This record gives sequence, structure tokens and C-alpha cells, in this order.
Amino acid sequence: MPNKTNDPKRSSWIGYNRDTHFPIQNIPFGVFLTRDNVITIGTRIGDYAIDLGALQEMGYFDNVPLTDDMFMQDTLNDFISDGKKTWRLVRNRIGDIFDKENSELRDNKSDRDRIIFPMDEVEMQLPVLIGDYTDFYSSKEHATNVGTMFRDPDNALLPNWLHMPVAYHGRSSSIIPSNISIHRPQGQTMPAGAEQPVFGPSKLVDFELEMAFITTDANNLGHPVPVNEAEDYIFGMVILNDWSARDIQKWEYVPLGPFLAKNFASSISPWIVTLDALEPFRTSGPKREKPVLDYLDSKKDSSFDINLEVDITPQQGTPTTVCKSNFKHLYWNISQQLAHHTVNGCPVNSGDLMGSGTISGPTKDSYGSMLELSWRGEKPIQLNDGTERKFIQDYDTVTMRGYCHKGDLRIGFGEVSNTLLPIYEPKKK
Ligand code: MN
Repeated sequence: MPNKTNDPKRSSWIGYNRDTHFPIQNIPFGVFLTRDNVITIGTRIGDYAIDLGALQEMGYFDNVPLTDDMFMQDTLNDFISDGKKTWRLVRNRIGDIFDKENSELRDNKSDRDRIIFPMDEVEMQLPVLIGDYTDFYSSKEHATNVGTMFRDPDNALLPNWLHMPVAYHGRSSSIIPSNISIHRPQGQTMPAGAEQPVFGPSKLVDFELEMAFITTDANNLGHPVPVNEAEDYIFGMVILNDWSARDIQKWEYVPLGPFLAKNFASSISPWIVTLDALEPFRTSGPKREKPVLDYLDSKKDSSFDINLEVDITPQQGTPTTVCKSNFKHLYWNISQQLAHHTVNGCPVNSGDLMGSGTISGPTKDSYGSMLELSWRGEKPIQLNDGTERKFIQDYDTVTMRGYCHKGDLRIGFGEVSNTLLPIYEPKKK
């Protein structure tokens, strides 16, 4: 099926600036609450949210085979389950409806008023009900930096790392959308030189700059997904901040890996950008340093050129960009990740979230966590209000952005932004 929605020459009767993340070539999917407190599935063009439930109800999708209430739901799981053919038909139809030359909705003011909302009048929700969350560890630079700091600079990468995309199973109950504040976690740590662990607020709260892909129902129990078919089961991508408590992590992670250091919160950007929209930005990843086993031999370039940035904004300050990285630095690509995840027959469902792992680049300003940027706190980062950061302080806001650009075409993810509050203290009775 031709993907005419990506035509860079196309423009929309909804106006937007050249530097928007959401031109008519993007057409991401999300879920939002309108000012009338109606929850609906939607898309976005420029600074406007578009109610797909209302569009469907008013007959604008009558020529697309969809179940009657496909978009009148509070998650995208059913739509994603319908598969790639439906995603493309719907994205193409939305592109047509909002094409500059198409008058059917453009010239119908009463329909427009029921369908289009300024972004500042809607509240974005989690786009999917996330059944399972897995977090990979696919940046060689990140794994090398962490291995160097925590274990042994001479053997920073563990022996399995260049042979498989390693991962752990995370927790979906604490995945939150942008703009929800989180509390500094408390837990057990072992201070340097101490003989007994102590309990208290984490002193080393950190972000992890990641992206994540969202799957459809990929396979049944026992059936692996072949690496060169894996992309057919990936709906799209979001930005992920995998909040981490480094002091809790250091004491708890041997032998079973991260637990309470990671599962207090992970936040995602609210619009899922489809792989179709990212197609113009496909690129090759880093060169393989070791041959891979056949089941991981992906023939296609399954990486994408996505610029990523992280800002820290103190409570009464302006943002400082502390990191600039790129998704293309990842050593293991999304096809290899999904093939590896399912090679033993583990089933993957609609709405599962697969994190990339922290995306660090080769230069010191491209490291995707404060742990690496401040090198365990040895080299504090200067903010533009004159203060320093080794890790994240109470009332700091961490904002991550992602966008692709090529010539005049820009496709973005918007941002994920959350504020760290002090520890939770129950009200005294
Ligand atoms: Mn992570």
C-alpha cells in the first residue's frame, strides 16, 4: 500500500509553524481528555488535537473497515490489535481529510468545532493499557560507562553483551504520562564504608534517556517472531524516561537485577509516532563488532535518526539542556530486540512497551543519564542559574524531547516532562 501520508510536499488546512513536531506527515496516535471530560482517541496536527472518536461518529471513516467503537475507547489497544493494514488505512484517511485541498471537513464549521481542540484545552493520558514492560540495555556506550564505574574498566562489557540484546522485565503499574509529578523514592542503601544498610530517601535520583516501542499482538505462546518480520508487529515509538535511584540500585541489583531502584516511576511521551511516519529517517546502526547468531541477523536497517535532548529546569529557573543524543547510537535495533524477546516462545501482546535502555552517544555531552554526565557525581553539571547538579534535586523538572529532520521535513515526538517532588509524607491525623 503506498504511504502517501509521508509525501513531504503535502500541506494541511490546519496551520502550523515549520518547526512543529506534528506536521500532516506525522499523524501520531494518542488518548486525551477534552474540556468536557470526554476521553477519546486522537491525533495531532500542529498545536491542535483531533478527536478520532468524533470523526468516526460523524462518518468520516465510513470507507475504512473499522469496528463501530474503534476510536470511542480510552486506550489504543484494540486499534493496535487490528494490525498494520488498518493503521495505514486510517493514517492515510486522516492525511486526506486534513489535506489543504480537501474541503469536506475544512468547510464544515460545525463538524470542525466538534472534532478539533487547541492542545492547551486537552489533557493527554497514557495512550495504551500497558500489559508488560521490558527494558533493554542496548547502548554500548551506556553499558560501557556503567560497567566502568560499577565494576571494572578493563572488562566493562560483560561477555554476553555483544551477542544478545540483554534486558530485564520491568513493571507497568508505575508507567505514567508526561506532566505527572513523582515523589523521591525511599529505600534501603548501603552507604560507602558502612557495615549496616540504612533506610531513607534516595540521594541519587536520576533520569534515563530512552525510547520505547509499542507492539501489537505478535505471536502465540511457543512461537518466535522472526527478526526480519519483527517490524510488522511494532506499532510505533515514544520517548521514555526510566527514572532510577542509583544508590538503591547499587545495593540491590546483584544477583537479579534492578527492582525498587527502577519501578517507582517511568514516564512516556503521550503521542505514539508510527514506524510508517519514521520511515524517511531510517538509518543503519553502529557496525557489528561480533557476528550474531542467525536469529538476530536483521537484514534491514532497523534504526532511525532521532535527535534526543534532555533539559533540567529548577523550580524557579530556566531550562538547561544537559544532554544531546540520538536513537541511532543504539547497538541493538528494535527488530533484534523483539526477535530476541520472543525466540524462546514468550508471547507479546498489543500495548506491550519495550524500552531501549539509556541512549548514550560517544561524546560526554551525549550521555543519557546524570550518572554518566556527572561521572558518579565527580564532575557536577553546571546549570544556567549558576547551581550545580550531580543528580536530580527536589522540584527539578526533567524534560526529554525527540525529533527527526531531513530537508524541510520534521517529525517529532513532542516531549515527556515530569517534576520530582520530595518524599511522600502521609498527612498526620
Ligand atoms: Mn532503563
